[in-house]
Amino acid sequence: MLENINDNLLVIILDINAAWWASQFQNNNDVFQKCIDSVLVFCNSYLMLNHTNKLALVVCNSEQACFLYPNSSKSTSGISIETSQKDGKYELFSEMNETLQCEFKRLFAESVSNMTNRPSLLAGALTKALCYIHSHDRTANGRRTNARILIIKGSSDSSSQYMTVMNCIFAASKKNIVIDCCALQNNSGFMQQASDITGGVYFFIDDFSGMLEYLLWIFLPDPGLREKLNLPTSSQIDYRAACFCHKQLVDVGFVCSVCLSIYCQFMPKCATCQTRFKLPSLPLNAKSKKK
Ligand SMILES: [Zn+2]
Ligand SMILES: [Zn+2]
Repeated sequence: MLENINDNLLVIILDINAAWWASQFQNNNDVFQKCIDSVLVFCNSYLMLNHTNKLALVVCNSEQACFLYPNSSKSTSGISIETSQKDGKYELFSEMNETLQCEFKRLFAESVSNMTNRPSLLAGALTKALCYIHSHDRTANGRRTNARILIIKGSSDSSSQYMTVMNCIFAASKKNIVIDCCALQNNSGFMQQASDITGGVYFFIDDFSGMLEYLLWIFLPDPGLREKLNLPTSSQIDYRAACFCHKQLVDVGFVCSVCLSIYCQFMPKCATCQTRFKLPSLPLNAKSKKK
């Protein structure tokens, strides 16, 4: 029955911000290599789990967000005809692992050579992932795609990307795309909100020695299967929003009653929708109360 076959699509977003890795591990490349190895084993496991499973991998650093797999410049998704079997390995895995290893090393070396403290382009990576899922949906010949996104991220959030990241999260939620997040060493407010809004899992990893186990146990099962598992839930979620005027996270702010723009101070005119706010007697009252 054709209508019962659903495609499963997982898009992994991996943050390889060289400045963050260098600041955390003092140029100890072993930890980065261990993280890459764990992600590769996870990718292989996901593809092995079911023949309808499809995978894409996006990496982001402070310079760019790009697809490493499937790599359109080399071969389209799946097995290229020229790839020969090596050591009895399954062609799809050997091709994918080789491509990814080379590309990771190249991109990481590139970002080490011009290391900046700029934040990773997470919003760009999320947008690319959503566009990829959408294009996959359109070419699926009427078959349904169960898509989800897994973000593996260490560098801290950039409040300047608040708007774009939140828009991506709501777009994903509208398309029923689950966003799972694996935070490395730093808790991320953006990622906590993404998992909470889309019904995904947020997990914080402190100890890299168990990274593969965490990935396999928590992020390998599909959302449909998770109800039967006792997975970790995040108890505290950072729901702070960034103000639209200074792009800084605020605990308490002013919200435009028309367009819901957030400001850290009182604005007589909303910068987004140009609504004018009149508070005739409030400032005087507030002053007299203080006196
Ligand atoms: Zn502000
Ligand atoms: Zn407004």
